[in-house]
Amino acid sequence: MYDPRQRPLALRLLREGFSLAEINHQTGISRQTLYNWKKDPEKAAARVVPACPRCHERALDRPAYSYLLGLYLGDGHIANAPKPGIYRMEIACANSWPGLSEEAAHALAVVMPGQKIGRRASIGCTNIGAYSKHWPCIFPQHGPGMKHTRKITLSEWQQEIVDECTGKFVRGLIHSDGCRAMNRIKHVRNGETVWYEYPRYFFTNASDDIRTLYTDALDRLGIAWKQSNARNISVARRDAVARLDAFVGPKY
Ligand SMILES: [Zn+2]
Repeated sequence: MYDPRQRPLALRLLREGFSLAEINHQTGISRQTLYNWKKDPEKAAARVVPACPRCHERALDRPAYSYLLGLYLGDGHIANAPKPGIYRMEIACANSWPGLSEEAAHALAVVMPGQKIGRRASIGCTNIGAYSKHWPCIFPQHGPGMKHTRKITLSEWQQEIVDECTGKFVRGLIHSDGCRAMNRIKHVRNGETVWYEYPRYFFTNASDDIRTLYTDALDRLGIAWKQSNARNISVARRDAVARLDAFVGPKY
């Protein structure tokens, strides 16, 4: 296995017509690998060597990660793949919202580049997923059992990202376990019936810890919320809904 950081240099030297022996000498990448890249330069350039932001030196796209973390805590899971040491991360996306499926696929691709994004059909939803050895490195909440049956806390570095990209985190949580719904209220005034409609946001999760992560994020953004029942948090005040509309909005 070669050092993935040498790859861009090797591809450049190949384009510039250096010999395989020379490039091998400069980069330590085997002549066989270089030969394959030379034979199919388009494929070689398209393929990004997967690396982990925790184990290797690769910058993590923080806004995309914050969004994906929200999705993962809502409707995501990480499972062992048939091949030992490999994990599959999947986000369950309702088929009613094709735009959200695309956004989830994009977030997965940006956070773990170089992995094929797969789509697995299930009842009423599609599981958007990708394989990697490194999912548990960047989602340390991975563990046996359902998320609401275990303690969910963020690592210090995750909390820093959520504090920095709070809107993206809230967007991810609402896109997975939330909704924006119209509430209709009937008023009878002087014998005349008038209907008022106003939007509200709901977030429903069985985990106390995940609901707290959501309400902490809302507090950080100065958005008023209420616990409407044991599992449900609502945002209904007009100014608070307007704030969420600025970076969440209706599902699509
Ligand atoms: Zn890793």
